Amino acid sequence: MNDYQTRLRNALIDQHKLVFDYEKKRLRDEFAEHLNCPVCGSDRNSVYMRKDFFTFTQCAACSMVFLNPRLNNTATHAFYNSMWNSIYNELKFDATTASTALDDKINLSNLMSIGQIRPPRKGDSLLEIGSAKGYFLKKARDQGYNVYGIELNQKNYELTRREIGDTIFNKDLFDLKFEPEFFDVIYMRDVFEHVPNPKEMLQEIHRIAKKNCILYIEVPNIEGLIYRMVGEKHVVVFGFEHLNYWSPTTLSAVLSSTGFYVDKIMHASLDFNLRYLTSYLADQQFTAIQANPINPVLRTMLKVIQGICSLSPFQYLDNLILPWLANTLHRGSVIKVIARKR
Ligand SMILES: [Zn+2]
Repeated sequence: MNDYQTRLRNALIDQHKLVFDYEKKRLRDEFAEHLNCPVCGSDRNSVYMRKDFFTFTQCAACSMVFLNPRLNNTATHAFYNSMWNSIYNELKFDATTASTALDDKINLSNLMSIGQIRPPRKGDSLLEIGSAKGYFLKKARDQGYNVYGIELNQKNYELTRREIGDTIFNKDLFDLKFEPEFFDVIYMRDVFEHVPNPKEMLQEIHRIAKKNCILYIEVPNIEGLIYRMVGEKHVVVFGFEHLNYWSPTTLSAVLSSTGFYVDKIMHASLDFNLRYLTSYLADQQFTAIQANPINPVLRTMLKVIQGICSLSPFQYLDNLILPWLANTLHRGSVIKVIARKR
């Protein structure tokens, strides 16, 4: 492990020790919040998976998978302001890395698919919730949209505000009190899995959206083949930050119950290939506390497969075949849902 990884791992262990009772192997009472299903409100659920003492349950009524119990407001706020978060942000937000470049590419392609469904008209209002460094908003502005952004990370907020202006906010959506029926497009990528009150949030989005407004949501898909194969070893299964584990069924249900209809669901599977699969199975991921208890012989075999798949001709096929399979079976690692306000 390099220095960055060691610092990140140690900071995560510190946070884990803070909120968990290691004797009882559960969240300390003062940090725990028990809840009913965030989609349908049912109190009937069973254990879906566990990881590092976090328990993820599945609703018996609507199949929603969610963290339960989860960290309460105080503990969540402390985690987002913890040393772990600032170390993580060094790479995620502070530097121009391969992952930033990939994010930009995905955001641009999502903007293009929105344009294909509803060609941008000059003066249309577009809101991005979780606008990061503002790449999506800059591209949207170039296409003629009036752009608005919400970004809670202070550094990103300041950076984007300098570039785009005073329509970038670092406040909660509920506190901003936008005019009713204001937006033509609302965009959220890698956000909706973090939200503690998804239904209330969609109700607020419904209030500020014009009729027929496009709501674009991209989230991990817990029914994706990658999760079927690696389960809780996946880097996305992370109780400190990811509360809700959506599927096409549960995301459609919550959208429909808040006044939206689903126009289109697209699947993407950038990490459903042998390189990622072998890594999830053989390596300890940065969101995991406990070491991966894997047989050393199996680990060596997985590493050999990983090495072969990293060679250029194989890498090309590896990026093509399994993602195509998952997307064709509608079991992508990620779903991109285009909904409209009814
Ligand atoms: Zn439910």
